[in-house]
Amino acid sequence: MGDMASIVQTVPEKCKRCYTCVRSCPAKAIKVEGGQARVIEERCLTCGNCIRVCAQHAKSVGSGRPELEQILAGSRPAIACLAPSFPAAFEAVSPGQVIAGLRQLGFAQVMEVAYGAELTALAYRELLSGKIPTPVITTPCPALVSYVEKYLPELIPNLAPIVSPMIALARFIRTKYCPEAAVVFIGPCTAKKAEIRDEAMAGIVDVVLTYEETQQLFAQDGVALHELAPSEFDGPRARFGGIFPVSGGLLKTAHMESDILENDIIVSEGVDRALDVLRQTMDGALNARFLDLLFCNGCIAGPVMGNDLSIVARKELVVRHVRQERAAASEAATYYNALMEAREGLDLSRSFHDRSMPLSMPSDAELATILAQMGKHEPEDELNCGACGYPTCRDKAVAVYQGLAEAQMCLPFLIDELETTIQELADSKVQIEKAQSLLIQSERLASMGQLAAAVAHELNNPLGTVLIYAHTLLRELQTGDPRRDDVQMIAAESERCRKIVRGLLDFARKRSRQADAVDIGAVLENVIGIVQKHAVFSRVNIDLRVAHDLPTVDGDADQLTQAFVNLATNAAEAMPDGGKLTISACPHDGDRVDIAFTDEGVGISEENRQRLFTPFFTTKAGGKGTGLGLPIVYGVVKMHSGDVRVDSEVGKGTTFTITLNRWREGIEETPVAPEPGIIGQ
Ligand code: SF4
Ligand code: SF4
Ligand code: SF4
Repeated sequence: MGDMASIVQTVPEKCKRCYTCVRSCPAKAIKVEGGQARVIEERCLTCGNCIRVCAQHAKSVGSGRPELEQILAGSRPAIACLAPSFPAAFEAVSPGQVIAGLRQLGFAQVMEVAYGAELTALAYRELLSGKIPTPVITTPCPALVSYVEKYLPELIPNLAPIVSPMIALARFIRTKYCPEAAVVFIGPCTAKKAEIRDEAMAGIVDVVLTYEETQQLFAQDGVALHELAPSEFDGPRARFGGIFPVSGGLLKTAHMESDILENDIIVSEGVDRALDVLRQTMDGALNARFLDLLFCNGCIAGPVMGNDLSIVARKELVVRHVRQERAAASEAATYYNALMEAREGLDLSRSFHDRSMPLSMPSDAELATILAQMGKHEPEDELNCGACGYPTCRDKAVAVYQGLAEAQMCLPFLIDELETTIQELADSKVQIEKAQSLLIQSERLASMGQLAAAVAHELNNPLGTVLIYAHTLLRELQTGDPRRDDVQMIAAESERCRKIVRGLLDFARKRSRQADAVDIGAVLENVIGIVQKHAVFSRVNIDLRVAHDLPTVDGDADQLTQAFVNLATNAAEAMPDGGKLTISACPHDGDRVDIAFTDEGVGISEENRQRLFTPFFTTKAGGKGTGLGLPIVYGVVKMHSGDVRVDSEVGKGTTFTITLNRWREGIEETPVAPEPGIIGQ
């Protein structure tokens, strides 16, 4: 659905938000709302510029066809009034065939608006011979009249109080020709649809059809124009009025000469040039007495001509028709006597109204706030690229303030936003992939823990039995007994197996733990005391950094000592040529404590990092190490409901960070470890 009651409408499903129409609208009459470029009827001039520029055909003009069908079905004689540009709109057939086609559609008569132009031209000659405020601005173009009434009301006194050729012909029909007729104007202009709604002109013309609508009617009724015998216009004929839609046509019809040296007559066409002349008039910069202004480049360039012919080609078609008409017209003196007679008693005057609706302007602070919403924080952010349809970022911000535009219409801002979103999505993807990988690793470790716990549980009792009997045997064997060495080996190896089993139970979190308020600083000092005795630490410099406000943690000091000794030993072994081991402890988010072990060792490859906490996985050469050191760390931390994080760079070093819960009064039970989770990469 389009905009109800608007003559110029937007077809929402076709609008692709290119803002070309916003850029081309001379009246700031297009409001972008919910991404749609809607027409504000009160502000609109119905100039049709937006229809002309919209490559998506998303702007349309309200159809007059339903009203025409009612008229043709009724009892009043319908008179089609054909605008003088028509030879350029129906270029494939002769003018007479167009007239014949209209008769076939059901029109009782077909008259030429060029005759209305002759009457209008006469009225201009009369006006200019009297005393009037100058410069006089011509008023055949309803879009231009509407612009003055709505946006430059100071110039209303300068508007020539004379009706357009369309209204002039319609008044002639109503007063002197066929008062009961239904008058239908056919032309290239969308603004004519608004002109007949004006209260000063109400009820004079019944319907306005565009050439496009008329072509659709011919197609709908199967009227093949090229097969028809040409027909003639009804009613009084024009002599020069047919030239009206061509640049300078009014002057030519009124036999007024424009002397370029005198510069008292200015002919200007096209929105930009016409508005420029109006602004200069406002500024008092012009000395001209007569301003002949049109919003299009002559009405032959009207917005709904229905074909893509060049202006030159259209002019050629119109001029050819005017020459033929003039040749057939009566001799000049006779013609103008008849015209003066028709003019007698015919009211061709009109009035104008101030319809201005000034928009409020934002303060500097309000403007700055809107610019910030558009991502314009500094002057260099204001690109003034025009992509939003406004010439500068500030013009656009003012339009946002006035409710005509949306802050999001800024293309560079949207691109920036899009790039940020794409980056955030890419970051999220990496995070999700990491989390997924850690989850898989944690699940693998959890199932491995269950298996390890089952195996350890099965081995624990037989191992205990072997150990008891080995020690009983040792006690019974005399010193010097050759079997004693063998039994001692059985006892030592059984002891080693028991440690392995205990390690597996630690990994599988099958041992209970104390829940005490543990002073991590004291534990770390104890750990340093233990490890420093080992040879592997002989070339390692330990730097201990404990935050002075470090809270106690909820933990089992013995188990934490074991885990920290493992991490410190691991770090020292990663630095075979010596180096610095930094052990730090600091609060984490108020409720937790981080303990980090950072070495300057060889680092851990991505592949090995995935398997670090897997029981019996070791990178140590020659069967050194049980491969249970880090799994035990993992198990202990999980038993404390904590997390382990690993950050490593090959060739630079590794940091293991353990995060534990701070001690809270009232914690008595041994916390149940959640399902395992490793933080890190
Ligand atoms: S010109 Fe206007 S109506 Fe047409 S697609 Fe662009 S924004 Fe939409
Ligand atoms: S018809 Fe003219 S004034 Fe109305 S919205 Fe389109 S360009 Fe603007
Ligand atoms: S110049 Fe002619 S066609 Fe264009 S808006 Fe004005 S009256 Fe209509």
